[in-house]
Amino acid sequence: MQNILNAWFVQGMVKATSDMWLKGWDERNGGNVSLRLLDEEVQPFAQDFYREPRTVELTQPAPGLANCWFLVTGSGKFFRNVQLDPTDSLVLLRVSDDGRAYSIYWGLSNGGLPTSELASHFQSHSVRMKATNGGDRVIMHCHATNFMSLSYVVDLNAASFTRLLWEGSTECLVVFPDGVGIVPWMVPGTDGIGDKTAEQMASHSLVMWPFHGIFGAGPTLDETFGLIDTAEKSSEVVVKVLSMGGMKQSITTPELIALGERFGVKPWQAALEASHPHVA
Ligand code: 13P
Ligand code: ZN
Repeated sequence: MQNILNAWFVQGMVKATSDMWLKGWDERNGGNVSLRLLDEEVQPFAQDFYREPRTVELTQPAPGLANCWFLVTGSGKFFRNVQLDPTDSLVLLRVSDDGRAYSIYWGLSNGGLPTSELASHFQSHSVRMKATNGGDRVIMHCHATNFMSLSYVVDLNAASFTRLLWEGSTECLVVFPDGVGIVPWMVPGTDGIGDKTAEQMASHSLVMWPFHGIFGAGPTLDETFGLIDTAEKSSEVVVKVLSMGGMKQSITTPELIALGERFGVKPWQAALEASHPHVA
């Protein structure tokens, strides 16, 4: 029998959270990650499970996730410490038959709860599972510095903000052709922000939480990290461009269309048609 600490999903979570810390996206306990797992992926590690799993009611039922397993970061845990003590920082849980509760099978060795953003994660998982036919298995939230910074200066309009990021780096349209959704500023850690985030996740793999951070969805930890990294890189370029006085020239609409054609993606039409006020 193998030790769960060597499981690909624990190792993957350690790498993702360590990389996110090194990127400067996750100060203190900022950020949270959840990874959906299949029964056959977790059962080989059953000998490491708690004999009597602790059960906690969900604040909002998640019937679409009934019986699903998740590896999640713990609330209040520092990403820089996940690699030092994954057993304390992470939690492996399973949603109940009726989707109204979850049970903790491993992790949180010193007590505590999964991330305070569990509502946003679970509601987003439900929506992305449907939108991608089960393809998406990761929801990732962090406080990406440049992306957050832009929320203070751009119009909080999803199509024009998407267009701005597409122009900020040529790869963006290919990596997130569905664009970036935006929710209003809301109190974090609530069912309400979870509802709004999931609503945006129906058509976007990235969602902005103004003055707070970003939510990303993807099939793997690597893909989701890469998605956020790409949006953050473009945001950094745009921050520098705006700091230098704004764009003098940029990628044009026909060029964006050609990019989509070459790489076989269908860019979000509203963003192709949008303009933004940042070209000098
Ligand atoms: P948690 O420590 O509860 O995951 O909260 C961190 C965070 O980023 C809240 O938005
Ligand atoms: Zn946060």
